[in-house]
Amino acid sequence: MGIKYIDELDIKNKRVFIRVDFNVPLKDGKITDDTRVRAALPTINHAVKQGARVILASHLGRPKGGPDAKLSLKPLAAHLGSLLKQEVKCAPDCIGDEVGKMVNGMKPGEVILLENLRFHPEEEKNDPEFSKKLAGLADVYINDAFGTAHRAHSSTEGMAHFVKEIGGGFLLRDELKNLEGLLKNPEKPFVVILGGAKVSDKMGVIDNLSGKADVILVGGGMAYTFLKARKIEIGASKVEENLVYDGMMMLGRATTRKTRILLPVDHVVADKFEEGTPPQVEAKNAIPAGKMGLDIGPATIELFKKEIASAKTIFWNGPLGVFEWSGFEKGTLEIAKAIAESKAVKVAGGGDTIAAIEKAKVADKFTHISTGGGASLELLEGKKLPGVEVLRKD
Ligand code: AMP
Repeated sequence: MGIKYIDELDIKNKRVFIRVDFNVPLKDGKITDDTRVRAALPTINHAVKQGARVILASHLGRPKGGPDAKLSLKPLAAHLGSLLKQEVKCAPDCIGDEVGKMVNGMKPGEVILLENLRFHPEEEKNDPEFSKKLAGLADVYINDAFGTAHRAHSSTEGMAHFVKEIGGGFLLRDELKNLEGLLKNPEKPFVVILGGAKVSDKMGVIDNLSGKADVILVGGGMAYTFLKARKIEIGASKVEENLVYDGMMMLGRATTRKTRILLPVDHVVADKFEEGTPPQVEAKNAIPAGKMGLDIGPATIELFKKEIASAKTIFWNGPLGVFEWSGFEKGTLEIAKAIAESKAVKVAGGGDTIAAIEKAKVADKFTHISTGGGASLELLEGKKLPGVEVLRKD
């Protein structure tokens, strides 16, 4: 079943409700990174050019059960206005008579941003009455919020059942094309690089990709649970004890499915988990008692680079060490650069991975960088995303 996208729908003069992801980082009321706003511009610009009455809606942060001035979308309306070079009004709420009047008084090409959806707890509960109220503002519903597509909330799933014309935006299309491409027909060799703090976040991805990927390179804090599963000493490194057995089973399954899982063969270790602590290279895969692995070592970097160099498709999620600290950034930055130099299709996702790619100054070399960390992982786990499934029609 296919999804219709905004350029396949007649939106002229219509009230087009676009669920965007404007959940940006804020400091003292100022936007510190507007990547998500910019990522929604192609869809918004298209709707404006087509003469739609454009109603934008998003959540921001985690308000606790009601309005919170610190999490108002007003600064986003002002910022979007400056990017679009036209006025963007911020509605006082996302539902209610006043909002209804504002929306019904809009002229074609005008843009309104509704107030934070999560000021109403019903949003996250996917409450049908709340969904109907949102749907009442729309002739056409468009979801372009890939970052929240793995959540079945009123604005991402519920309201789509109450609007006749529904579809996806360009950002959603781009995300799905690139991420589903990894699962459907990746050009081989397909190399997956996984890191980050917790193995629990990535178990599902490893399981779903083993059999599809040729090799999975594992670094970061999560590597130590797997090393322990292989009965290798890990000293005081990060470990999820309850997953050691699962890790062992997963390594076995991957072998049966002919996916190689490569773990670090050396490390950069420290005596404590503290910024400024001196890095020490540990040339073996085993880590002495009392020491903790905080980055992959030089031999691992070379081993991983060799796999990356021969790849035709690459997916990367999760830093390979504590890249925020200069003594333990090398593994992550070297791997980011090696991926950037490769001629493969290169897809990355996850907040920390994006920060690492930016630190390595190689963002422009990637085929696709996903705006949705959690959503991209769930998709690669083989899960259906409610915000995407609801858009599928015969
Ligand atoms: P995640 O959100 O799961 O992708 O984890 C990202 C975090 O993992 C980053 O803040 C890294 O500093 C951290 N990290 C990476 N490698 C290690 C490690 N060996 N030990 C502890 N934390 C790590």
